Amino acid sequence: MKKALLYLRVSTAMQEEKDSLNKQKQESLDFIKSKGFTLYKIIEEVETGKNTEREGLKTLEFEIKSKKFDVLIFYSLSRLGRVQFDIHRIINLADHSRITYYSVTENFINSESEMGRMMLGIVASLAEQESTTISKRVSSRMRAYATQGYFLQKPPLGFDVKDKILVENEDGNKIRDIFSSYLNGEGKGSIAKRYNKCIKSIDCILKNPAYAGFVRFGGRRRDKVTNKQVKCEETVYKGLHKAIIEIEQYEAVQRLLSQRYISPIRSVNNDKYLLGGIVRCECGLKFYGQKAYDRKKQARQKSYYRCLGTSIKKCHAPFIPVAELEEAVIATLKKYSKDNFSFLSTKKSNKKIDNKSKIEKLLQKKSRTVEAYTDCNISRDDYLKLISKINSEISVLESVSSPQIAKIEIDDLKKKFISLLNNFDKVERIEQKKILQIIIKEVIVLNRESFEIKLNII
Ligand SMILES: [Zn+2]
Repeated sequence: MKKALLYLRVSTAMQEEKDSLNKQKQESLDFIKSKGFTLYKIIEEVETGKNTEREGLKTLEFEIKSKKFDVLIFYSLSRLGRVQFDIHRIINLADHSRITYYSVTENFINSESEMGRMMLGIVASLAEQESTTISKRVSSRMRAYATQGYFLQKPPLGFDVKDKILVENEDGNKIRDIFSSYLNGEGKGSIAKRYNKCIKSIDCILKNPAYAGFVRFGGRRRDKVTNKQVKCEETVYKGLHKAIIEIEQYEAVQRLLSQRYISPIRSVNNDKYLLGGIVRCECGLKFYGQKAYDRKKQARQKSYYRCLGTSIKKCHAPFIPVAELEEAVIATLKKYSKDNFSFLSTKKSNKKIDNKSKIEKLLQKKSRTVEAYTDCNISRDDYLKLISKINSEISVLESVSSPQIAKIEIDDLKKKFISLLNNFDKVERIEQKKILQIIIKEVIVLNRESFEIKLNII
């Protein structure tokens, strides 16, 4: 008598599926009996058919390879697997071991005839397609909820969920405070400390459109091949809930979030904005470089330097085209150079640099670096490198006995500036940027036509 192996699978452990497993089993056993086979073994598993690494499948392969039975019985092809490749692999293995097979419910699928084999190919491809439509169906139902403004995930801080709609709770005022603190210039790091949270979660709060009355859909999905979360397009819909934050305030925060990354440390590494990190507005805030959007050409076009305060409507300083400001500053420096930096000769006396102020500067630099790190502006590696460099500089200064401190003569400095500027037009843009950052301490923009340059003379 032929020995039969029965393979059964349901995708979840829910009660209805368990019932389905019992039904599958009973029907299959009846089938085996009707064919006159004896039962060799049953492999049962609860696992999605898309999982190609499932244990039951591995056991099945092993059993087929060791040829301990004659007939493979499965309830339907889709139970055997949802991935065509898997199904074909199992069937090929079975053929190789001279094991015949039968589908209990699809009596046209079997290894008895050429027709049965052909049908297997067709149904296997259908099984795979059905599997992708099921996940699409679930996803489109979720989207339908989102488009109507319902909230389907775990509610964020400040909200509860009632009947799939967000409702503000007692933490709502924390959210108001976090948004307004950030808008008033407080760093994420400091806000995080105050609320005993990590910077990342403050960042998530500031970026969450739910607070402005929206719900989002997408953003992340599970990759079919790697089974890992990957980023995907996110759509935002008007929510049914009441906002905690005014839309204008929310948008101002988004603009600020995209601008605050500017730090002098980072700006050295790109050559887009030669004056990055050293231009500031008369109002005290930094200028940063930004590409403006050209409506006609539908693209980001001309680059400008603009005051950080303009984005939060705290300042009305004009936007200055990047080339315009850079050319003007460079021309001024060249003029100084031609003039032998004569205006500096009035302070002819050699200035002593005392260690104390140097150390103080390094300590300031250290705290700025820590701030840049806690605000996520620099990587941990960069942070550690910078800190150890600063620490060693400090220890060198502390070890030097104070009277014999390096003297920098103004004339030496002038010579250095002039030689740097003589080479200016011959070097790459990134080098030009370094030269400007060595010579200039600060460019203060007074208006579109005038600015003040402070040189790096200690
Ligand atoms: Zn300003």
